[in-house]
Amino acid sequence: AKEEGRNTYQFFSEEMNSRVSERLSMETGLRHALARNEFLLHYQPRVNTTTGRIVGVEALIRWQQPQKGLILPDAFIPLAEETGLIIPIGEWVLRNTCTQARAWQEAGFAQMRISVNISCRQFTHDNLPDTIRGILRETGLQPSCLELEITESVIMLNPERAISLLNELKEMGISIAIDDFGTGYSSLSLLKRLPADILKIDKSFVSGIPGNKSDETLVATIINLGHNMGLGLVAEGVERQEQLHFLEERNCQEVQGYYFSKPLPAETLQPLLKNGTYP
Ligand code: C2E
Ligand code: CA
Ligand code: CA
Ligand code: CA
Repeated sequence: AKEEGRNTYQFFSEEMNSRVSERLSMETGLRHALARNEFLLHYQPRVNTTTGRIVGVEALIRWQQPQKGLILPDAFIPLAEETGLIIPIGEWVLRNTCTQARAWQEAGFAQMRISVNISCRQFTHDNLPDTIRGILRETGLQPSCLELEITESVIMLNPERAISLLNELKEMGISIAIDDFGTGYSSLSLLKRLPADILKIDKSFVSGIPGNKSDETLVATIINLGHNMGLGLVAEGVERQEQLHFLEERNCQEVQGYYFSKPLPAETLQPLLKNGTYP
């Protein structure tokens, strides 16, 4: 029994060791990734369901890690949050996104919005509005072309502070989207006070339509809620035509998802933006 116990312990500690060293090596990698220029952005179009027009794009970060290849954000954003590295990384995302949006404008593509995901720590960091003001000035992008995506759960951490921050950002002319809407338990009275422009319906609900009755009800309810409150609606994670039909029938104006396009590098997206419309 003693032998067994030791083995179990050894196995456990080896696993822990490898997890700890994995984390450490990722943290070291993350610390150097900015300076080594290993981050890149992919952009996913947002499409108007009635006109087929591309009305905007969402910027999504990736990490081209020399040994491991392309790493998706869910695998490193949480660690970036914990270590505070999200602050410089988030600033890099904002600066690059605004520069890209400005370049697309100058190339004569239709006036479209560019959306950037803002993490929890970035949102609560003391000078987000100043940082953004500086980046807009530097890149020459009009604030009306920039949209920030903040998750419902981040807002719920400190609703009063969130409301005042969002008001400040809105006064600058920036749009606000509530990301992953439906997953964060915000109350209707809070929603009424949120200076938001758009609700993004979480893809976990969109994946069940049509067919899953509770997802159908939830999605329809969020759409009605948005309409009644004068907010725009975007459904994320639309992969199939039946999903698109369900959303169109209920007047969800905008969608994003693999059905139209995966997130793509700027150069690959360019011809699509030039064309501007899906058939
Ligand atoms: P999110 O903001 O909810 O972004 C939507 C995610 O769904 C993206 O994953 C996107 O690639 C994926 N997606 C889009 N269409 C479809 C579809 O039709 N089907 C399915 N199954 N998935 C679809 P991605 O790029 O891996 O990003 C994951 C999350 O990482 C994002 O979730 C966002 O929370 C975070 N993230 C991405 N970029 C940034 C960033 O620059 N800064 C911060 N703070 N977070 C970011
Ligand atoms: Ca998002
Ligand atoms: Ca989302
Ligand atoms: Ca999400």
